[in-house]
Order: sequence, then structure tokens, then C-alpha cells
Amino acid sequence: MNDRFQDIRDGVRALCAQFPDAYFRKVDEARGYPDEFVDALTKAGWLAALIPQEYGGSGLGLAEASIIMEEINRCGGNSGACHGQMYNMGTLLRHGSEAQKRKYLPGIATGALRLQSMAVTEPTTGTDTTKLKTSAQRKGDRYVVNGQKVWISRVQHSDLMILLARTTPFAEVKRKSDGMSIFIVDLHHTIGKGLVVRPIANMVNHETNELFFDSLEIPAENLLGEEGKGFKYILDGLNAERTLIAAECIGDGYWFIDRAAKYANERIVFDRPIGKNQGVQFPLAEAYIEIEAANLMRFRACELFDSHLQCGAEANMAKYLAAKASWEAANACLQTHGGFGFASEYDVERKFRETRLYQVAPISTNLILSYIAEHVLGLPRSF
Ligand SMILES: Cc1cc2nc3c(=O)[nH]c(=O)nc-3n(C[C@H](O)[C@H](O)[C@H](O)COP(=O)(O)OP(=O)(O)OC[C@H]3O[C@@H](n4cnc5c(N)ncnc54)[C@H](O)[C@@H]3O)c2cc1C
Repeated sequence: MNDRFQDIRDGVRALCAQFPDAYFRKVDEARGYPDEFVDALTKAGWLAALIPQEYGGSGLGLAEASIIMEEINRCGGNSGACHGQMYNMGTLLRHGSEAQKRKYLPGIATGALRLQSMAVTEPTTGTDTTKLKTSAQRKGDRYVVNGQKVWISRVQHSDLMILLARTTPFAEVKRKSDGMSIFIVDLHHTIGKGLVVRPIANMVNHETNELFFDSLEIPAENLLGEEGKGFKYILDGLNAERTLIAAECIGDGYWFIDRAAKYANERIVFDRPIGKNQGVQFPLAEAYIEIEAANLMRFRACELFDSHLQCGAEANMAKYLAAKASWEAANACLQTHGGFGFASEYDVERKFRETRLYQVAPISTNLILSYIAEHVLGLPRSF
């Protein structure tokens, strides 16, 4: 069915058609990075959708940006390789000075500068972000950073990284969310000069790393916004990120259903297509219903965000519903394929691994439930 985004859908689909299943399968098998695909997306301007026109982007809304992410996943690709380039710049756009925006955004829009990484998570504190231990101490015209991060994605395919660190010790702040700041880190000037990057082998072909900071010096001018307000700035960006990831899950969900329905129509066992059995049909019908419902919440979140209205609850609910629906669809698709679901050449097992991530990152399902319980239902805080 066509919708008002059909032009964007057609454009992204045409680009994705140049990168068939075999391309992504090969990249996955080699644990490589889809350089050619990301270059093509960048050249076509799709990753600069959210950058205002005055800084060289196309100034589109979140709804349009989410269609781009959805279509990549719906065509069999994995936006996780490059989605950071679309939304990490939001922190800079909202909280950077005019000089910082002029310095970085036009380069990010053309792809000459890649801002694909955002370093928040730490190994010893996990989801309890306000307890993070990485510190940045002001010394004259520099900040000196010490500490450790984990699971920081796309660092090896990025020129810049957003870093969240404590500038005032936890013991000295009134509220636990105070005293953290964000910096823009030039990776070319820091890796090997106080920053060590160690890749983490993982279940998905997702480039992610441990980072070790040992007296890393960052120019004070790389502080974004006001010192001490970094946690709030990071939170400001999460609604866009969650909604875009919801759209990726929806793209995955439709991919799984399309593939499963096709296979169920073609595969003959007991002299009839397996799709004739209601035991095969119903899980697919159920997953489809759930994807459609998640899709409505995704568009609700986009509508509120693009109207500059509060959308924390809707963005979180969209992410929750979409990640759950894509996972149900993945399971149903794999089951429909029987043994062949496990064969790499069908791509089901690859997409199955890719979509599973979104129940955990960038926010785990429990933390979304906790947000809704406390912020929407007014239940007491549990942490
Ligand atoms: C492939 C990948 C890429 C990632 N990329 C990035 C990145 O680029 N940048 C970045 O900063 N981070 C990144 N992350 C980290 C990701 O955001 C975290 O893994 C995630 O937020 C969960 O944190 P954790 O792993 O420390 O889990 P933990 O905080 O240790 O939690 C473990 C489990 O316990 C549950 N739990 C914890 N506390 C509670 C509670 N109070 N109530 C109920 N349940 C609870 C959680 O929901 C989770 O299921 C990435 C992770 C992965 C796997």
C-alpha cells in the first residue's frame, strides 16, 4: 500500500536494490563493514536527512528519517552499521554553539566527517548511567579524561565521537543526574594518544568496542553546551533514537513476514504448501498484526516529535512494541523455514541475530517498562 512517503521509499529501495542479500551475507560472513553500501547512502544524502538545510542537510522530519531506516532493514540490510551518523549529530545540533555547528555539521552532511559513535555505557555501571566513573577534569584549556567505556559502536568507522563523562564527582552533586558533561572527541587525534580501542567479538556483525582512557587530553572548546548538563543533553536525543530504531525493527518485521509467507506458499510437504496449515499461518498472522500495531505507535511518536511536543512515552512504547514484534516475526519466520532457516543462504538466521539486539540495546526492554511505570503511571521509583 502506498503512503505519503512513497517517494522516499522508492528512492531508498532503488539504492538498496544495488546491494542484494548476497552482499550483506558476504559482509556478515567476513565480519566486515558494508563500506560500499554506507558510501552510497551517504552520497545520496539519506544519512543527512535530519541535518537542517542551512548546514548542508535536507532538513527532513523524524517521520521521513524513520522511513529511510525502515526501508534499509525492509530490503534486507542492517541500519545498525550507520544509523549513528543520522542521529548522533542531534546532540551537537541542539546543544552545540553556532561555531561548533558550522565547524562540524556541513562535513557530517556530506559524509566527509563521520559522527557515528556515542560513548555512554560503562562496564561496571551498565544501565545505571548516572553512576558512570569516567571522569573529565578541567586543567587550563583542556580536559583530562580517565576511565573506561564498553560496547561503543562504529568507533573504527568514525572520525568523531560524543563522550559522556563526569566533570563533578558523584559525591559532590545535589542530583545524581548533575555533574556530567558531553564532549566531541576527534578520534584521529586521540586513538593511541590516551585512548585505546579494543574490538568486542559479538553475536551480530556489529562493530563495537571497549574504550580505555588514560589521561586523554581534549581541548576545552570541545565541550558541548554547559558543563554539568551532559546527562540531560543525552536524554534529549533519546526519543529520536528510539523512534528510529523502532522503524528499523518494523522494517525487519516486514522482511521476516514477506520471506516467511513466500516460503510457506512455495514449500511443499505432505503434497501441499506448508502455508495451508493453520499451525504455520497463525504465528505469521499474529506477528503481522503486532508489526502493524507497532507501526501506528511509531508514526504517533514521529508526529509528536515533529510537532515539537513531548513524546517520551510514545517513543519508548514504539521501541518496545516494534522490538518485540520484530522478534516474534523473526521467530515465526525461522520456524516456517524449518531446517533451512538455519542455512546462511536464506538470510533468516542473519536477520534473526540482527533484530534480537534491539531488545537489549540501545535500551533494554525492562528499562522501558520502568519508564512507563514511573513516568506515565505515576508508580514509585524503583531505583
Ligand atoms: C551490540 C551492542 C552495541 C551497543 N552500542 C552502544 C553504543 O554505541 N554506545 C553505548 O553507550 N552503549 C552501547 N551499547 C550498550 C547498551 O546500551 C547496553 O548494553 C544496554 O543499555 C544494557 O546495559 P548493560 O549491558 O550494562 O546491562 P545491565 O545494566 O547490566 O543489565 C542487564 C540486564 O538486567 C536488567 N536490569 C538492570 N537493572 C534493572 C532494573 N533496575 N530493573 C529491571 N531490570 C534491570 C536489564 O534490563 C538487562 O536486561 C551497545 C550494546 C550492544 C550489545
